[in-house]
Formats: sequence, C-alpha cells, structure tokens
Amino acid sequence: ERALVWFRRDLRVFDHAALYHALTQSRAVFCVFIFDTAILDALPEQDRRIEFLHASLIELHAELVKLGGALIVRHALAASEIPALARELTVDAVFINHDYEPAAIARDAQISGALQQDGIALHDYKDQVIFERDEVLSLAGKPFSVFTPYKNAWLKQLQFDSTDINVRSYPIDPVAHHLAVSPIAHVMPSLGELGFAPSNFAELKIPVGMSGGQALLDNFLERINKYKLTRDFPAVKGPSYLSVHLRFGTVSIRHLARRACEAVRLASDASGAQTWLAELVWRDFYFMILQHHPRVVHGAFKPDYDAIQWETGPAADALFQAWCDGKTGYPLVDAAMAQLNQSGYMHNRLRMVTACFLIKDLGIDWRRGEAYFAEKLIDFDLSANNGGWQWASSSGCDAQPYFRIFNPITQSEKFDTEGRFIRRYVPQLAQLGNKQIHAPWLLTKMELDHAGVTLGGNYPAPVVQHDVARKQTLMRYAVVKKVT
Ligand code: FAD
Repeated sequence: ERALVWFRRDLRVFDHAALYHALTQSRAVFCVFIFDTAILDALPEQDRRIEFLHASLIELHAELVKLGGALIVRHALAASEIPALARELTVDAVFINHDYEPAAIARDAQISGALQQDGIALHDYKDQVIFERDEVLSLAGKPFSVFTPYKNAWLKQLQFDSTDINVRSYPIDPVAHHLAVSPIAHVMPSLGELGFAPSNFAELKIPVGMSGGQALLDNFLERINKYKLTRDFPAVKGPSYLSVHLRFGTVSIRHLARRACEAVRLASDASGAQTWLAELVWRDFYFMILQHHPRVVHGAFKPDYDAIQWETGPAADALFQAWCDGKTGYPLVDAAMAQLNQSGYMHNRLRMVTACFLIKDLGIDWRRGEAYFAEKLIDFDLSANNGGWQWASSSGCDAQPYFRIFNPITQSEKFDTEGRFIRRYVPQLAQLGNKQIHAPWLLTKMELDHAGVTLGGNYPAPVVQHDVARKQTLMRYAVVKKVT
C-alpha cells in the first residue's frame, strides 16, 4: 500500500490523525503541501499569513526528513494537483484531515470524485476539533444553537469517556514509523515566486512552526491559572496567543485540551484553566455552527436580521475607512485597529469593542468588518470570525441582545484603566493623564495643549457621538424587535 498525506491546516508531525493512519496502514507514505492558487490568488501582495505558513513549512519539512521522508511542495490549483500527484506517485490512497469551511468541503468532494475515477481512495479524519458537528447533541438529538448547554454537554462527553478517547493522541514513533523516500525533490518556492512581497512579519518575531507553538504553550501554562483574571485587559499578557497555531495546526487541539484538563485537575483554583478550556469549546461550537448552517457565511444566523438597513454611500464609506485606519477619535477603538494593522493580531476584548463600534456606533454592515478582519488577522478563521461578528451584530446564535451596545468610553475605562494599551498604539495621546485618555474631546484646550494633542490635527475628533449613534441603532434594529 502506498499513501499520500496532504497537509493543510495541520502543519505538524506529532499527534496528527491523517499522518498516523497513513503510517499505520501503508508501506510507503509520501507528504505534500500545496500553496493553493484558489486561495492565494485572492490575497493581497503582502500577507503575513503566507510568511507564517512559509516559515512553518520549512520546519515541517525538516521534521519529515527526520522520519526518512520529505515534503513535496507545489504552487498550483489543489483540486487538480492532488489527483495528478496521486497518479504520479502511484498511491492507493490520499489521507487528509477534515476541513470544515464550505469552499474546502466542496474542493475535497471534487478531489474525492477525481481520485475515485483512478481507483484511489480518499481517507479523511477528524483532527482539527475535539468534537465534530454531530458528536455533541441535545438530549433530543438536535444540534445546539446556544453555547452554555453545548459547553455543558461537551464537557460531560469529554469526562464521560474516562479513557480520554476524545483527546487521545496519535503517537508517531520515529523508530516504527518511516516515511518513503520521495522521488520528487523538495523545492520550497520563495515568497516572491509565490507572488508575495515581505510584510513586517519578520519584525513581529511571532514564534512559528511546531517549536513556536510549543514555546507559546509552555509560556502560557505558567500563566493559565491567572487567565480568568487577566484575559480581558489588553495591556496585560493574559491570553495564550495560540490562535495562529490553532489556525495552521502547528499545535494539536487534543494536546491543548489535555493540558487544560490537567491544569484544571492540578490547580487549587481551577477557574483560570476552566475558563480557557471554555474558549476551546467556543472554537468547536463555531465550527459546529458553520457545518450545520453554512449560510452564515453570507447572511445572518437569524434570517430576520438581514432586513436591517445599514448605512451606505460616501459618508458611510468614509466612516468605514476611518475605522479601518484607526482614526475614529475613540482612543481604545483606534489603538485596537492599530494593533490589528501593525501586528495582524487583536486582543479578544478589543475584537468585541471594535466590532460593536463599527456596527452599532457607525451603523455599518457587519460583513464589511468581517471581511476586513479576514484580510488582516493572521489567525483568521472563517468560523470563529463569523461567529464573533454575528455575536457583535446580534444576528448570531447566542449573540449579545441587539439593545446591548458597548459604550466605547466605559469599555476603555474598565479594561484599559491606565491607558497603557492606548499609549502603546496611539503614541500621540501618551502625555494625557489616566483619566483623560479615554475621551480627549471632553478636555479643555489648555489640557489638550499641555499634552501636545490637537483634535483634528495630530488626533481626530470623534467621527460620531456615541449617544446619538446609540439611539439611531435602536431605531435601526426596530425591524427585528418583534422577532428577538
Ligand atoms: P486565548 O484567549 O488564549 O484562547 C485560546 C483559543 O480559544 C484561541 O486561540 C481560539 O482558538 C479559541 N477562542 C477563544 N475565544 C474564542 C471565540 N470567541 N470564538 C472561537 N474561538 C475562540 N478567533 C480566531 O481564531 N480567528 C478569528 O478570525 C477570530 N475572529 C474574531 C472576530 C471577532 C469579532 C471576535 C469577537 C472574536 C474573534 N475570534 C477569532 C475569537 C478570539 O478573539 C480569538 O480566538 C482570540 O483573541 C485569539 O487569541 P488567543 O489565542 O490569545 O486566545
């Protein structure tokens, strides 16, 4: 038996379902990664994700070499390249891990059909999540659409199987498991050859690959017990920063869940680890929602919310641009957008604040913000991003109620009390006092002069008035009042 393992969102050699099954079922195993033109062609010329991917693939290849193999790398249309490569290598089967995005499901179905015509099997495995679409259901056997009961059922299921079967690892044993020597040389295309130019990615010093994921995890496990207390404060190193590694599979979700459960068992106060484990459950939840309701990619989970009239036209476009550029005049919002634009990451609290601001202060369609995040976030994930945006727009399953409108000033005072985060990303406000920095337009000219701030000069005046915007939003959402 000869097999081809196609790496996609699982760029690691340990605890890898498809690789494990290929190695245990086949005599000769080859490995491939495709820079899929169907995905790459739509990306901007500078894209930090491609650089993360590129660097992580270099490490993946080096690890595959240690197992006696190599990574075949192609820059092509995956839908035709995989069947062609499978024929060229005369394999009996292609092994993959499930991908849950609608476009990927359609692509995999197409590939499966093409392989079948050549008598080649496609074996696919769960690897990216702990529980897939129908593995956690209500007592009535229905999929959940509210998070808390889903989480409770998810946790119960995890504990129910005391053998830890749901978080079992797939051990790759370098002695027993050998990859086949590839007849195709490993050639890694350069960034330029892939059609991309370098961004500031190198300056960001984001740990890449499996080793980077492990280093971040080790660091986070020292802080996990404090997660609940620190996670909401963007100036503090509270979260794990593992999202990009979960996105590209340079960490294993089973390994993370095991470590979180271990921390729950060992800690005298388990609330930190419990809260973090619940975040991993949110991740599964949104994957499950996407699988059951693929229409959320284009429209509201609650269809009535598609009747909402958003602001359009040149004035709305200008507001949208001010939001993208971090020039709204609301310091916390602007600092958050600067973090996104400069680093490709944004703190979770700020994702909620900026999303709510775009939708409920500027009256702009959540899909425009969702698309902007999708372009800029290194950890962009269709299911979590869509879930987060639909939460903020109140159109999602288990979303915040439509009348809940974050006050960007109160959020700033509460979560960046001393303005440390704002000062980091909006340095022109750095001289303002801790109480002044959240709403500079309320200050006197003398106070502003003293801190070297000129509203409308080196820092914008607020583009909207929150109180006025709030009233407009309540009117805008009146169309859904009856159905909420
Ligand atoms: P930690 O706090 O350490 O959490 C650990 C992991 O749990 C994360 O890496 C992530 O995989 C998962 N997680 C945490 N919160 C959520 C959540 N609300 N939904 C789903 N999974 C979650 N997350 C993404 O991975 N990609 C996105 O594109 C994305 N877009 C978002 C857009 C909006 C508007 C909002 C409100 C949230 C979004 N999130 C997204 C969720 C969350 O903000 C990030 O996962 C988190 O900030 C990543 O940082 P971390 O790894 O340090 O998180």
